[in-house]
Amino acid sequence: MTDVLAQRVQASPDATALLGIGGVEWTYCDLDERVEQVAGRLAALGVAGEHLGCLLETRPATVVLVHAAARLGCVLVPLNTRLTPAELDRQVERAELAALVCGADTADTAVELSVDVPTASVDDTEHADVTALDSVSPAEFAPATREVDEPAVMLATSGTTGEPKLVVLTTENLRASAVASAFRLGVTPDDRWLDPLAVYHMGGLAPIVRSALYGTTVVVPGEFDAETTLDALERFDCTGISLVPTMLRRLLDAGSLADSLRFVLLGGAPASEELVERCEKRDVPVHPTYGMTETASQVATARPGEAFAYTGTVGRPLLGTDLSVLDGDGRPVDIGETGELVVSGPTVFAGYYNDPDATARAFSDRGFHTGDVGHHDAGGRLWVTGRRDEMISTGGELVAPSEIARVLRSHPAIDDAGVVGLPDPDWGERVGALVVGDVADDEAIRNYCRERLAGFKLPRTIAFADELPRTASGTVERAAVRERLLDNGD
Ligand code: ATP
Ligand code: MG
Repeated sequence: MTDVLAQRVQASPDATALLGIGGVEWTYCDLDERVEQVAGRLAALGVAGEHLGCLLETRPATVVLVHAAARLGCVLVPLNTRLTPAELDRQVERAELAALVCGADTADTAVELSVDVPTASVDDTEHADVTALDSVSPAEFAPATREVDEPAVMLATSGTTGEPKLVVLTTENLRASAVASAFRLGVTPDDRWLDPLAVYHMGGLAPIVRSALYGTTVVVPGEFDAETTLDALERFDCTGISLVPTMLRRLLDAGSLADSLRFVLLGGAPASEELVERCEKRDVPVHPTYGMTETASQVATARPGEAFAYTGTVGRPLLGTDLSVLDGDGRPVDIGETGELVVSGPTVFAGYYNDPDATARAFSDRGFHTGDVGHHDAGGRLWVTGRRDEMISTGGELVAPSEIARVLRSHPAIDDAGVVGLPDPDWGERVGALVVGDVADDEAIRNYCRERLAGFKLPRTIAFADELPRTASGTVERAAVRERLLDNGD
């Protein structure tokens, strides 16, 4: 039941399983043979049933490893290939890995680890202490007997709000997510899903598992590059692609997306209104999506028509996913009001690995508390406005910084704006804005906002800068914005 590929190969052995770099074109039968071989080699290394680390980019060998892990009853632990050896040490220890699989491009990092973990490579290797998998004689192994509600994968969250958390997902979580996604996006036998995302993010792993469940094709073109991706979409007649907003922006800048595309699943971060508008103008079937590691990816996904008609929405929750918007006391808020997004259903994870305290904190009887805030409309459509710990609480009202920043940026003379809460003796917090642009004074800005925002949302403290402080990944550094506003002090 947990070896998706074993079932698939019986149902449609000759369907195309995988298309990829280097002219790879495998049927399910071809893929199954490779998986059987790799599983035998891994069994010979003694890792059956253990936690198996994967330090690989998304490529054909990674697809093989994903299925080989399931066949052996291993818990697959994809690791971020961009981490330093010291960061990886922590992850290897925390996940209690029995072995690590790398490739030629990641072996240098793998050998730098201080923790002692047997390492094998899917490519030839010059490192004496890395075993080339191809050189191992396969051992006999018994097919895994694990249940669907047992751990199948462990993935680290992105670490946006602190130390990344290690999320345990079961086969059932992955399967429920695949089924619910299919109801929203549709599936046809000729589907080809291009996957440029990393397997250490749920969005990159999902198309691999889902394609095998559906009996459709996953396309892995290798490292993301706009030209290569546009070309692969055309060349392979792809019907779907998963992207984060920065990638989609680069694709739209570089050319036009293939006509064969049925869906562009866009998630991982908020999609700007401008990006969705560009998709509408160019007939790109964009599906803005809200999801996270703990829910095995999608929670809500908007279809294109909905995304174009209801600016900023991520659509309705997927089938089987129950979503509540709760106030600080855990009661459902009214339509249009802001609250925390709480999710329950079959895609919700089993817990954080070896961390019962964090797991207990994340759940209530209503479900998993995402830490994200948003609101919904009478039609059940959802808007995600930010994270709980970014919210400004002023005089008992919650204000989303993203909403204020959006209004400020819509001012013709304002190029950019960062919005944070500042301590306030009367209101608990007040709204502060650091503004980049050529505006006369605070009052002009406040007058502009007054026409568009309720009184409690108006920026009370405003300062000007040539540029906003940003992190390497491009998000506004809120602590630095706050400091600037307090320095300018009043
Ligand atoms: P950590 O949990 O370690 O702080 P993270 O939450 O960024 O990191 P992920 O699970 O990779 O780790 O990301 C999921 C989060 O990304 C969501 O909880 C949400 O905050 C944000 N997100 C995803 N999609 C959207 C979207 N469409 N709009 C707004 N935010 C989104
Ligand atoms: Mg998170």
